[in-house]
Amino acid sequence: MTEHATEQAEKHTFKAEVNQILSLVVNSLYTHKEVFLRELISNASDALDHLSFKALTDESALGDDTELGIRITVDADARTVTISDNGVGMGHDELAENLGTIAHSGTRRLAEQMTGDTGADVNLIGQFGVGFYSAFLVAERVEVVSRKAGGDEAWRWASTADGSYTLEPAERDGRGTDVILHLRKDADEDEFLRDWVLRDLVRKYSDYVRHPIRLRTETGEGDEKTTSWEQVNKGSALWARRKGDITAEQATEFYKHLTHDWEAPLAHIHFKVEGMQEMAGLLFLPRRAPMEALARRKSGVRLFVKRVFVMDDCEELLPDYLRFVRGVVDSDDLPLNVSREFLQKDKTTAAIRKQVVRHALRMLDELADRADADADQEAQTEDGDGGGDDGGDDGGDAKAPPAATYADFWRQFGPILKEGVHADQANREQIAKLLRFTSSEGDELWSLAQYVLRMKDGQESIYYVTAPSRAAAESSPHLEALRDRGYEVLYMTDPIDEWVVDGLREFDGKSLVAAAKGALDLPESDEEKEQREEKEGALEGLLGRLKDVLSGDVEDVRVTSRLTDSPACLVVGEGGIAPHVERLLRAQNADIPEQKRILEINPAHPVVERLNALAGDDARSADVEDGAHLLYDQALIAEGSPVADPAQFARRLTRLLRTALG
Ligand code: ADP
Repeated sequence: MTEHATEQAEKHTFKAEVNQILSLVVNSLYTHKEVFLRELISNASDALDHLSFKALTDESALGDDTELGIRITVDADARTVTISDNGVGMGHDELAENLGTIAHSGTRRLAEQMTGDTGADVNLIGQFGVGFYSAFLVAERVEVVSRKAGGDEAWRWASTADGSYTLEPAERDGRGTDVILHLRKDADEDEFLRDWVLRDLVRKYSDYVRHPIRLRTETGEGDEKTTSWEQVNKGSALWARRKGDITAEQATEFYKHLTHDWEAPLAHIHFKVEGMQEMAGLLFLPRRAPMEALARRKSGVRLFVKRVFVMDDCEELLPDYLRFVRGVVDSDDLPLNVSREFLQKDKTTAAIRKQVVRHALRMLDELADRADADADQEAQTEDGDGGGDDGGDDGGDAKAPPAATYADFWRQFGPILKEGVHADQANREQIAKLLRFTSSEGDELWSLAQYVLRMKDGQESIYYVTAPSRAAAESSPHLEALRDRGYEVLYMTDPIDEWVVDGLREFDGKSLVAAAKGALDLPESDEEKEQREEKEGALEGLLGRLKDVLSGDVEDVRVTSRLTDSPACLVVGEGGIAPHVERLLRAQNADIPEQKRILEINPAHPVVERLNALAGDDARSADVEDGAHLLYDQALIAEGSPVADPAQFARRLTRLLRTALG
């Protein structure tokens, strides 16, 4: 039983900062009282780690007591919760030093920054570890009985957080530390006397602490009463293992546990970073988009600090465009008590995030590579270390069940990943490699790299067309000249694609050129150029007439290099947006200015030639005017846009038919 200070007890006063910290902790964390258990277990785990580290070089360090672990005992009658470990323990001076001053460097920094203004100081607490003093969140009195490893005397440290503590000799079997919490006599604290509450807290915060955490449980009544030690935590943190030591089955099982998904992930990557930073991560690519998560824009990464759970949905570690990634990240460099505000400002977090992004993209890259390789043979992939890594990173290994294909990923999450082209300039090249489009070469999903490999001799640019559907893209008149030359055209049928290429601009040193935008400067021979200029000169009269007649509808009229079969088409100016996207934005009430386009006419087309011949004939002026309007309207219809005045269009067409049919 515990007794209050005896005559032998030495009385010490806390250093001033300790009092300040104590009151700050108690005043700021009272809504998160439960963290005391996490903090004390973390201390116990550190003490065990220190001992096993010692035992590496000194075999006698463990003695007979070789089974390292943490034990939690509840005494409901005495209202105590005791957290015990058989770790390094503390002697007299260490108790005084560690628990009576501010030993911990994080806490010391906190103390230095405190202003004395409680309001401002409460904001500081989230940035530093609070450690041992969190015991006073639930306890009115805390006793620490400890015996140092290798020593034979034990000491009892005790305090009621009233500005002082006592130290006196005590008894303890074997090395280690007991932290005895005398819970406050408040209904609030009663819950911590319940087995199931403690069990849940251990599982929530400390499931992956590598030492066993056992809870003493009693069953039966009176003489029949038996006590047993139940291990509460899982114990092993999969991600903390050496790279390559995780099987695909283990990763899948962990993924299901983490996400409650019933399907295996498409891919995973395990990575460890050592050196300047110490961290580990295990990231997953789900097979299906978890709708609520995507809509909520919550990140699926869980943050641990030294194997101790700290935060769910840690969006500070993963940019929005990777919000489909799930997994855990474990840092050795952050304090346990981190807050979101702290993470947003902290430099360490930025460095961690960089690693997470890098490995998430690598996971995708490896899945894409594997999908290519799978085309030839069964997946028998080696570790996909990208090479050229910065020091200290041992790379990563991503594995996926053989059935996983990159196309599966792309169909689920492609539209989200595309956001990264704008959002993450630093990784733009990396992201560009991961983009997929269909093209005039077929309905498969092609990468830009595949396109580049297929480029024709003399072809300098990557051509694409944005359209509301594949069918619309295929029948777009804008592709005629490109098709004539055998150039492949990428089909961009997602409305966001317009914006994506705008951010991309080029790939592999080749610019991305819209088939229906700006000037399409196709490479041409001197002879071709001469012919074109000659025709343009000959068409000047018609161009002038068309500009007059259509001045309300189009920005300009010019001769095209795009067309072979159609008489005319409409193109968007250099910075403009495609008409189907414009309609879409209008439908969503976006306030966008009226956009006039450019009418391009095909000099080789008989209709254009005939109109040109009539352009100077005053007697045929009305026919030329009708022809101009019809040219414009049919260009709209050909690209899938509505005509502005269908009744007018029908009247003109009828007039034309009547003449044509005599
Ligand atoms: P931190 O754990 O963040 O260093 P704390 O205030 O929680 O800060 O603890 C202060 C110090 O007390 C620790 O650094 C450690 O040296 C010592 N200590 C705390 N708990 C234990 C324990 N169970 N066994 C051994 N030493 C401990």
